[in-house]
Amino acid sequence: MRYISTRATATPQSERKRFCEILLEGLAPDGGLYLPETYPQVEPATLTRWRGLSYADLAFEVLSLYVDDIPAEDLRALCRNTYTQAVFGTAAIVPLKKLEDGLYLEALSNGPTLAFKDMAMQLLGNLFEYELARRGEELNIFGATSGDTGSAAEYAMRGKKGVRVFMTSPDGRMSPFQQAQMFSLLDENIYNIAITGVFDDCQDLVKAVSGDLEFKRKYKIGTVNSINWARLMAQVVYYFAGYLQSTTSNEERVSFTVPSGNFGNVCAGHVARMMGLPIAQLVVATNENDVLDEFFRTGVYRVRGTADTHETSSPSMDISKASNFERFVFDLLGRDGARTADLFGAQVPRQGRFDLGADPVFAQAASRYGFASGKSTHQDRLDTIRSTWQKYGVVVDTHTADGLKVAQEHRQAGVPMVVLETALPIKFAATIVEALGREPERPAQFVGIEALPKKVRVMAPDVQAIKDLIAQACA
Ligand SMILES: *Cc1c(COP(=O)(O)O)cnc(C)c1O
Repeated sequence: MRYISTRATATPQSERKRFCEILLEGLAPDGGLYLPETYPQVEPATLTRWRGLSYADLAFEVLSLYVDDIPAEDLRALCRNTYTQAVFGTAAIVPLKKLEDGLYLEALSNGPTLAFKDMAMQLLGNLFEYELARRGEELNIFGATSGDTGSAAEYAMRGKKGVRVFMTSPDGRMSPFQQAQMFSLLDENIYNIAITGVFDDCQDLVKAVSGDLEFKRKYKIGTVNSINWARLMAQVVYYFAGYLQSTTSNEERVSFTVPSGNFGNVCAGHVARMMGLPIAQLVVATNENDVLDEFFRTGVYRVRGTADTHETSSPSMDISKASNFERFVFDLLGRDGARTADLFGAQVPRQGRFDLGADPVFAQAASRYGFASGKSTHQDRLDTIRSTWQKYGVVVDTHTADGLKVAQEHRQAGVPMVVLETALPIKFAATIVEALGREPERPAQFVGIEALPKKVRVMAPDVQAIKDLIAQACA
């Protein structure tokens, strides 16, 4: 298997990369995103064979189709060490909860930070440690977070050899639970940095440090953002697991609804569908930040400015642009790298938008690729949390509520609808209290975390001071 950029026209053989070559990288040098040059096909007989597998072994089978530069036994061991009951809470790893006939939740949020990002990040931690050891290299992950991504990265990388994590977050702006989750990590290789500013200040610091190419090379600065192919690949596995749990034969089709922000999660569903998994619809659910819903309704992709980006009660979906969307558009355009480069490398930066509404390919987003979409507001979220509790006795988090609301609008007779549960309600307790008048349940391992000792340094948004901190840590 080789990887190409979404912006490449003709890629010479020498530039087709192998998995481990792109594992530690972000964007391709031409500004595009990496994708496999073809999608491996999973035949019905293979799918049948996979029905009996544990999640870890299913992960190994799927990953083997994309990774041919890690020996099979090592890859299997990496999967088995990652997807354990001890880390993910159940033997099934991603158990299905039946709400009623034909409507399920797939639990992706029982990992260490209670959000679906653990599903990929835990694997990434083990892959990074493995590959860095093999190369005899080190990596300094420098990132910005307003919540879920930073903590998932820290819990994945804590204690890993060869990796340090420097994670900036806006001082005092994360929820007390999120702060406690991150700042109570006392591992030597984890550096929590609370920046006196807002999230944009943190992101500007990341841009400034990564933009200093000499510093970046000298100190091996890397990221773990959602455009990383390995994260996307790891997410493909739970679409297979959700399908296999909700069907008994490969004749059946299943739809998925995905609470979406950067399009990383649902893009993995697209990849699973391209591999031949019998998925009927992929329903993209957005909150008030409806960049993606607008595209799937109209063909217009319009990036939002800061003033147009709403702070909502499903904050992990508060995006101004969808950083993984380019991957799907590349496929939609028949893998035309030149056109993809024009849309994302010229039109979006210059005009902040592009319009495929009049292009015949736009209709294929639904007809050929199964996409549908919908939007959910704060009031919808409250109503859905309430009705899900009243009807099924289940408390869902705010992001999952957006998914459930939109899923109801797209259910088809005879096709099970699986809604991905992307976080547990305890992470967004204030909105649960607003909807239900009571606190959500707190998993036992999180009781009292606010009182644990914290390791965090508060710093001004000063590029030089941050660089000095990294240099000192590496000395
Ligand atoms: C990150 C996140 C999302 C959005 O996922 P994307 O891959 O960015 O589309 C949805 N819900 C929760 C809880 C998240 O943490």
